[in-house]
Amino acid sequence: MVKRWTAAGSLVAAGMLLTPLMWADASPELQAAVDKSMKAMGAENLKTLVISGQGWDGCVGQPYDPNSPNWRKFSNKDYVRSIDLEKHGWRLQRVRGEGETPGRGGCGAGPIADQTQNQVTNLAANSPWATQMEYILLPEGFLQTALQKNATVKAETVKGKKYTVISFLGDAKAPVTGYINDLGYVDKVETTIDNNVLGDMVWSAHYTDWKDFGGVKFPTHIVQYQGPPKFFELTVSDVKANVPVDLSVPDRGGRGRGRGGPGRGRGRGGAEGPISEDLGGGFWLINGPPGGYGSVVADFQKSIVVIEGPQNDMRAEQIIAEAKRLVPNKPIRYVINTHAHFDHSGGLRAFVAEGATIITHKVNKGYYEKIFKDPHTLVPDKLSQMKPQPKIKIETMTEKKVLTDGTHTIELYHVQGSTHNAGMLIAYLPKQKVVIEADEFNVGAANAPTPATINPYHTNLLANIERLKLDVDRIIPIHLPGDNRKVTLAELKTAAGKN
Ligand SMILES: [Zn+2]
Repeated sequence: MVKRWTAAGSLVAAGMLLTPLMWADASPELQAAVDKSMKAMGAENLKTLVISGQGWDGCVGQPYDPNSPNWRKFSNKDYVRSIDLEKHGWRLQRVRGEGETPGRGGCGAGPIADQTQNQVTNLAANSPWATQMEYILLPEGFLQTALQKNATVKAETVKGKKYTVISFLGDAKAPVTGYINDLGYVDKVETTIDNNVLGDMVWSAHYTDWKDFGGVKFPTHIVQYQGPPKFFELTVSDVKANVPVDLSVPDRGGRGRGRGGPGRGRGRGGAEGPISEDLGGGFWLINGPPGGYGSVVADFQKSIVVIEGPQNDMRAEQIIAEAKRLVPNKPIRYVINTHAHFDHSGGLRAFVAEGATIITHKVNKGYYEKIFKDPHTLVPDKLSQMKPQPKIKIETMTEKKVLTDGTHTIELYHVQGSTHNAGMLIAYLPKQKVVIEADEFNVGAANAPTPATINPYHTNLLANIERLKLDVDRIIPIHLPGDNRKVTLAELKTAAGKN
């Protein structure tokens, strides 16, 4: 019997799925290919799947070194993903903690402590595409969805191996392709999603070392990539089929993947217009919404210099507009980039479109030159739409660089010993006695006492300020304080346990 789900084949209706997996609109070739693969994997009567193992997941855009082959790693201990293939939902339990040795990188400023997570995701037809992909990337999830989307089927030889290749178009113009090997196993599933820094970013899942778990064949090694870097890895130790899966949402622990998930912009969007604060002597702090990302604008003799192009095109456009309002009729010549993490570099493309030269640590030069040429066809941004493409101009520094027109001065220093980012820079305005820093001191509430555990980021920033003998009246964190207060050096000393 052929069971038709409902008109649009929505994910909600997928609950009506009967086995064997069938879909009225699917072509005979597609139905045959899916049937063959499901049979080979022993998945014809599969309703639930519980996968256990050990591995890690990555935080995209937050590596210690931009040239790292992995995204910033978080260990996933005692990983259990319990999937309901009829309800299209899953529970993810794991102990997520430091995955780098030594512990370095972004996604949470400071050393990472183990955190027990228990997250439930129930897909709906309007779930974000990246969340749907977390299901579709599964071998069984891919085959189910391919049927629903009336995918095309063709034979292809890749690197000498024969594959049945099944492809369909997902939401947000995302192509999805699965490669089924000659044993009938889903070898690889890949798609392309938008990332505001990397543009059209390939996200792929690779399944190897298949094993028989009581009749169900499942890979014991899973690797995912987002862009070139590795994003996820799991060594599967056990798979259980058709055991009950509870998809009730836990009281705490939230939904989804948490911070830094695939393709998501980080931080607040800055829907409110910018408000600037005069720092004196031709410098302004551009505030965003409280707790948002700040930038500093300097009125040099012939041009504008901006410190930090954060987040995305939208935020960068706000900063550019405010800079031009504050300093009319001058071009933006330079944008200074504290570090390459995507929430601090996501606005750089808009500054490049504006003709600005990026000043950054030399560790980022080759990386930026490469990624800024990546296509942005899924979600075109301003730079990607320019014809001809402007040249990407980058000036680098190592330990120190001074920008001055004789009246206005910005000193840039490399933060030695930063475990957050290899190329971390701070800016110092000697006349204003202001230090501008990103992620090395993300302040909380005002008048906080010395914490029980000192964050080594804070000790290290203070050590750098002392090493450089900077006379500091004020620290401006790019992650602005929630109350927009003036952060003093004394506040850093308290946080570093030195008061
Ligand atoms: Zn960072």
